[in-house]
Amino acid sequence: YGNLVPRDIATREIFDVCVRQGLSVEKDRPCVYLDLTELPAETHHKLEGILEIYEKFQGVDPRTTPMKIFPAVHYSMGGLWVDYEKDEKTGGLVIGSPRNQHSNVPGLFVIGEADYQYHGANRLGANSLLSCVFSGLIVAPSVESWLSSLPHGSAEDRPVSLFDGAVEPHRKRMEELIRGDGSENPYLLHRELGDWMTRNVTVVRHNKDLEATLEKIDELRSRYRRVALADRSNWTNQNFSFTRALGDMLLLAEVITRGALMRNECRGAHFKPEFQIPSPDADDPAALRRQAEQWCRAFREKNEKWLKTTRAHYTPDGPTITYEEVDTSLIPPRPRTYGLKGAEIIEEVWREHERGQGRSPVAEPAAAS
Ligand SMILES: Cc1cc2nc3c(=O)[nH]c(=O)nc-3n(C[C@H](O)[C@H](O)[C@H](O)COP(=O)(O)OP(=O)(O)OC[C@H]3O[C@@H](n4cnc5c(N)ncnc54)[C@H](O)[C@@H]3O)c2cc1C
Repeated sequence: YGNLVPRDIATREIFDVCVRQGLSVEKDRPCVYLDLTELPAETHHKLEGILEIYEKFQGVDPRTTPMKIFPAVHYSMGGLWVDYEKDEKTGGLVIGSPRNQHSNVPGLFVIGEADYQYHGANRLGANSLLSCVFSGLIVAPSVESWLSSLPHGSAEDRPVSLFDGAVEPHRKRMEELIRGDGSENPYLLHRELGDWMTRNVTVVRHNKDLEATLEKIDELRSRYRRVALADRSNWTNQNFSFTRALGDMLLLAEVITRGALMRNECRGAHFKPEFQIPSPDADDPAALRRQAEQWCRAFREKNEKWLKTTRAHYTPDGPTITYEEVDTSLIPPRPRTYGLKGAEIIEEVWREHERGQGRSPVAEPAAAS
């Protein structure tokens, strides 16, 4: 790839060096060097933002000293389920439909990174712009139509008991947390959760590690019941907000880990090496062609089984998982062949297959920024 390695591939290499081989350049912190010191000074302006941020936070000038880096979570590919209404004629959305961006909680609309839409199995550069701007744009007319479909009246017409009843469980939970006198420190639990999730549920996923992580989350959850807050006040208590959010993080961690464990395929950012389709390796052109055909068959079978959205439903006994079909009518999936031997042949076989099915293969997308 020259210097333009796709970010998931670069990330896996760094992860392998630090986590699997244990060769981090620092003892207690996973990181590798990114050496920009040989870049000519006249090119620095192209990276100015990054260089400045690094210098500000690390106190080291990356123009003269190699940077220490490690991949960080910077986007969540998943979120609250939201509905949409499809225009069957155009395949696009029915603008103004009260279903668009509407979650399964009536009146709760979700947009941006918090919703689950508008990304594939992998992260494309600037995807969040799409999700923030597009869902932000279409949600307003949807909220408007939903509101106008409601019976007239205002919240003040509803009985006070309705609001009190909704507030009460939260007040009770807050008091329990503030009064708790256990021995667990919520910040340490948070760090342990983060370490386990980063190690086992981010860049590379193995089923045995995912199973161990689920057990760990169980353990952390029981320790969470014994947390004690350093601040017990009832006003602007940051300790309380953090600890309450930690309970939600444990639940989300379980959803993510359980979903990953059940999804036995290797796709995009959900990188499970055990389920990777073997790359063609033949030198003989006819054999390579046969392998490319096998590869495409395996890719099709994988899509039939797994080209679905994982949906987690809350139950008091833990999340249950179901799957929802993905509508690919506007952009059919096609193989991602980065770094595969015989990539062009795979693509050719795929195009032939798509044409055979009466579908026109999609053109190469423009490079993502
Ligand atoms: C380090 C990093 C680098 C990134 N780089 C890129 C990139 O190069 N390109 C790209 O496209 N995307 C990038 N992203 C992702 C992108 O920044 C986010 O997906 C996007 O900003 C999400 O926008 P949002 O409006 O949906 O949510 P947010 O920007 O997260 O906004 C949510 C807001 O809600 C507020 N909030 C939270 N809880 C409450 C509450 N209880 N009450 C009131 N307010 C609350 C928060 O304070 C926040 O202001 C990056 C993210 C990170 C972390």
